[in-house]
Amino acid sequence: MTAAARTCRICGGAIAGTLDVREMMFGTREQFRYERCGACGCLQIAELPADVGRFYPADYYSFAVKPPNALKRLRRRIKRRPILGAPAAVAKLLRSAFPRDGLLHLYREVGARTSDRILDVGTGSGEHVLALRDAGVSAAVGLDPFIATDIMDQGRILVHKQELGRMSGQFELVTFHHALEHVPDQVATLTDARARLAPNGRVLVRVPSVSSWAFEHYGADWVNLDAPRHFCLHSHESIRLAAQRAGLRVDRLWCDSTAMSFMGSEQYRRDMPLMDPLSFARTKRGGLFSPAERTEFERRAQALNRELRGDWICVLMSAAS
Ligand SMILES: [Zn+2]
Repeated sequence: MTAAARTCRICGGAIAGTLDVREMMFGTREQFRYERCGACGCLQIAELPADVGRFYPADYYSFAVKPPNALKRLRRRIKRRPILGAPAAVAKLLRSAFPRDGLLHLYREVGARTSDRILDVGTGSGEHVLALRDAGVSAAVGLDPFIATDIMDQGRILVHKQELGRMSGQFELVTFHHALEHVPDQVATLTDARARLAPNGRVLVRVPSVSSWAFEHYGADWVNLDAPRHFCLHSHESIRLAAQRAGLRVDRLWCDSTAMSFMGSEQYRRDMPLMDPLSFARTKRGGLFSPAERTEFERRAQALNRELRGDWICVLMSAAS
């Protein structure tokens, strides 16, 4: 099939343009073609790489994170336990004191409760699921088909080595934190997520989005394009269409991009990979960027988020009736 004959995998629309993008996380600089749908605006990799495993070196996600010792675990539980149930003022204090627990505050914002069954898809080593359990969500569990074997926590499975389509059980919340963009079939995966929802259950998707200043400004140097690992970069419209085709509807869409979008993309423009020893991602000092520049990037990221022009989006979905 020629590129001209190809159509959008989300909406079936005609391809309106192409973009050649280099692998820049590790800096192999191998080039991959992406195609933009003229109808829904989605950007998709033209050909799925046959040997995608080679783009995920063993240390891509630290699948072998050592479990924290008992004392460390207890300390984490003490600081995390109040997050979901605390009054707003207390939660705000906890958030500024422990910014690394930001994701738990996101669960709080979407109304998650400690009694919820939460399934995190593509969770890797399960550190995030462990944080949910520390916060009192005892029925939180993860799945990841690429881990070597099931990961245990105090005698219970923390992360299943499993495909979503083969998972059983019902969940109040199914989450994808920067996982859906790595999946070849968006609609089939969201359909599998819908099948796991308890009555009134919801799906929370966090993905990079091309409906953003960063993509429009940086193009092929946009750090969150992450060729060839990201197969599908949604527009606000295409994620709604994908949800709809999976029997879901979007209840809320908002942005949570950070200074990282600027720092990574600025580096790619200067031909510096994300994993370069001098990269901000590898040094504690912010790499090429001064503290003032980093503060300014963060301020701009927050401003773009408020205008719905940030390049990371959070999308909350529920079953369409
Ligand atoms: Zn489309």
